[in-house]
Amino acid sequence: MVASIKPHRDDVGLADGLMLIDGRWTAAEGGQTWTHRHPATGEDVASFPVAGAADVDLAVRAARRAFDEGPWPRARATERIRVLRRIADLVRENGDELLKLQALDNSVPLTFGGVYGMSWAMVADVFDHHAGWVDKLAGETLPPYQGGDHLVMTLREPVGVVGAVVPWNAPLLLTAQKVAPALAAGCTIVLKPSEYATFSVLRLVKLIEEAGVPAGVINVVTGPGDPTGDALINHPMVNKLSFTGSRAVGRKIIEASANGFKRVSLELGGKSPALVFADADVGSAAAITMGTVTLGLSGQVCLAQTRALVHRDVAEEFLGMAEMIAGMVSYGNPFDPAVTSSPLINPRQLDRVLGLIAQGQADGARLVSGGTRGEGELAAGNFVAPTLFTDVTNDMSIAREEIFGPVLSVLTFRTPAEAVEKANNTPYGLSAGVWTEKGSLILWMASRLRAGVVWANTFNKFDPTSPFGGYKESGYGREGGRHGLEAYLDV
Ligand code: NAD
Repeated sequence: MVASIKPHRDDVGLADGLMLIDGRWTAAEGGQTWTHRHPATGEDVASFPVAGAADVDLAVRAARRAFDEGPWPRARATERIRVLRRIADLVRENGDELLKLQALDNSVPLTFGGVYGMSWAMVADVFDHHAGWVDKLAGETLPPYQGGDHLVMTLREPVGVVGAVVPWNAPLLLTAQKVAPALAAGCTIVLKPSEYATFSVLRLVKLIEEAGVPAGVINVVTGPGDPTGDALINHPMVNKLSFTGSRAVGRKIIEASANGFKRVSLELGGKSPALVFADADVGSAAAITMGTVTLGLSGQVCLAQTRALVHRDVAEEFLGMAEMIAGMVSYGNPFDPAVTSSPLINPRQLDRVLGLIAQGQADGARLVSGGTRGEGELAAGNFVAPTLFTDVTNDMSIAREEIFGPVLSVLTFRTPAEAVEKANNTPYGLSAGVWTEKGSLILWMASRLRAGVVWANTFNKFDPTSPFGGYKESGYGREGGRHGLEAYLDV
């Protein structure tokens, strides 16, 4: 364990935040602020404004003006491409600082920045990828179905003012996945970061501004769901809501969209299964599956595969390896290269996870390891030991709820049909994993699993070209690649 877990605020010269409205960095009109507490220590990091309805209104009106009258939606393709490429370059030049700010926000270990999906490299690539789309947003010319001497022409036009709301767990990447396609399409944006991960997003927006995005095209309002997020999603001048977060807030987004018939894309939670067959490389399957719920963000990841469905014949082998991985997890200061995993984001989430662990035991699941909160120098933070349950059945709350913590539940199956039935027995449908050497079985499973992404013999491989999103209550619409971009265009 590390000697000190004080976050290195001075490393990044962090100043208290201001938000960006119409090209000006500003405090909230009413002067309210929110002080961020670091999840590893409980210490105050810094504060930023809480935007009220009046601030949000100013931001949305600025975005509206920039859309209706400003140069951005009408800019030459070369200009939009130049700006998007410049953002990518600035992210690369300032990548280490962005990751440090992210660690100050949510305590994700710096070493985890080596994982492509959590790295500045992917954030930069997302902007580069979208720069490549700008001059390809062509419409079509269609022949008349019944003949005649007219033609039909389609235009693909920016959808308008985008209200983008992001969560705290991957603030840089998830901001990029919304802002890059919106800018490429010619939209204007009001962005609301999570109150638990604001500083890294403010820095990224500063880089976007530096790259030459005109005033009013990107605005940031900071603060919690109430009042800031609520005012944004209900604002009548917003044309599209792009949301990543929980299912509960996703419902509010859908309700708010009725006011003005806003377009909506939703990236919500998951309770994803990993299906491990008897012929699989069981060691890799167990190491990677346990890793998805313990390394990096400690299971606070939408696509984490928190239900391992393991063939009966290899269940013991799987459990042995998963327990070994649990023993290798190291907690502490996110700036320490030896630290592998984060605390939970806040005390409320700590209580919730400990409550679900207790419920799992009460329901009759067998606790193999973990289940306790951090002790000694970790007690000031929101740490929970890597937790492994077996003898879990699908009706238990640990198998049904998105726990968002370092908890893996192991269930067993005998046949592929039983595995599919158990895997799909959830309201969620974000990701799934299949572990087998049989190609035909992988294809059969992929066509039957109700999940937006199915990985085979691997996990978390995606890049800026890959569409990502959920089936069922994990959301609708896709982020990334051509499919993601379409959500910012009207025909
Ligand atoms: P959350 O839903 O609590 O918050 C997400 C964002 O919504 C935050 O910015 C928050 O301030 C805002 N918000 C809260 N109440 C609001 C309201 N009434 N109106 C408008 N905005 C409001 O989620 P979280 O705890 O930040 O993130 C965790 C959740 O996000 C998990 O469910 C996780 O699975 C999901 N997630 C999904 C994906 C994906 O791509 N599918 C990626 C990351 C996280």
